[in-house]
Amino acid sequence: MDFVYNANPSRVIFGAGSRAKVAEELDRLGIERAIVISTPDQSGLAAEIAKAIGGRAGIMYPGAVQHTPVEVTESALMAVSSVRADGCLAIGGGSTTGLSKAIAYRTDLPQLVIPTTFAGSEMTPILGQTEAGRKTTVSDPKILPETVIYDPELTVTMPSFISGPSGMNAIAHSVEALYAKDRNPVISMMAEASIRALGGALPTLMDDPSNLHAHSEALYGAWLAGVCLGAVGMAIHHKICHTLGGTFNLNHADIHALMIPYTSAYNRDAAPEAMASIARALGTVDGPTGIYQLTQRAASKRSLAEMGLTEADLDTAADIALQNPYYNPRPVTREGVRHMLQAAFEGRAP
Ligand code: NAD
Repeated sequence: MDFVYNANPSRVIFGAGSRAKVAEELDRLGIERAIVISTPDQSGLAAEIAKAIGGRAGIMYPGAVQHTPVEVTESALMAVSSVRADGCLAIGGGSTTGLSKAIAYRTDLPQLVIPTTFAGSEMTPILGQTEAGRKTTVSDPKILPETVIYDPELTVTMPSFISGPSGMNAIAHSVEALYAKDRNPVISMMAEASIRALGGALPTLMDDPSNLHAHSEALYGAWLAGVCLGAVGMAIHHKICHTLGGTFNLNHADIHALMIPYTSAYNRDAAPEAMASIARALGTVDGPTGIYQLTQRAASKRSLAEMGLTEADLDTAADIALQNPYYNPRPVTREGVRHMLQAAFEGRAP
């Protein structure tokens, strides 16, 4: 067995009610005047947490938006300078974490992140940002948040049309980690445990959105999935979702949730060990079929047609997805990708 394992250094505090430790954790990072980041929707929650930390909340910035536009980062950097903020406190989903990472990338300020979705961005040294409508990604150790507080009491407010796709997005990180070129036994173990935890919790969350035990399980799975995403390379699924999301301006979690049955099925014969691991985690005979069954419960959109794409768009997407070569267990061909997109367009079982 040959492998390289690189652990990303971050401190994780997990548990219901753990947001009560924010002040203590800010002290640990030496943060005295944080910029408190959220989306406009979550400004109430951010204000509640800011109240609990008193003077350590230097300035509120409730302006995070999806895809981390550079203009928003520049405006947030002005807020940082205006109070000489010495750290970031981000409370929200991947978009909020993205803004915190964008600030840290430019300033090397320490970050404390409190995730409220299952996106997993807080565990990666990767930043995706948009400038003039183009999304690019950078990877740098400065981008990785130093401390993350996972409090499942904060994910319970997600309506099921957000929590379902968000959980499937996390599963997609773990699925691709299982067949990554640079996979290793530790990450593969985490990936399988992540799929098991999320696969068990998501159906419960769909029926009972405020079930705290299921939120705790799902958030645990999402943490593991984030570690996987930050540790090994992704393949066709992330490439296709990046292409579809960027070209047709689709919701990040929705497109991941819709595509993961099809992208995993694309690799079904080329990655048998990964498929066996997915099947074990979901208690099914076939991995991609198990994922498809889960999306029937948890995804908000069930076909690319329902997301507003046309058959002509599928040709465009297939062309773009083939522009830059990348690793995938099964060779990426135009015919194969176009065929896969057709199945996703129709929403049929893969
Ligand atoms: P999001 O952060 O955009 O949140 C979606 C919506 O849900 C927002 O309106 C938000 O205010 C709301 N919301 C969040 N938590 C809530 C809660 N607990 N209750 C009620 N509403 C809540 O969506 P996301 O899927 O978490 O993140 C997507 C973004 O993260 C994308 O830009 C994606 O590229 C990025 N991302 C980056 C990485 C990385 O490693 N760089 C990994 C995953 C995702």
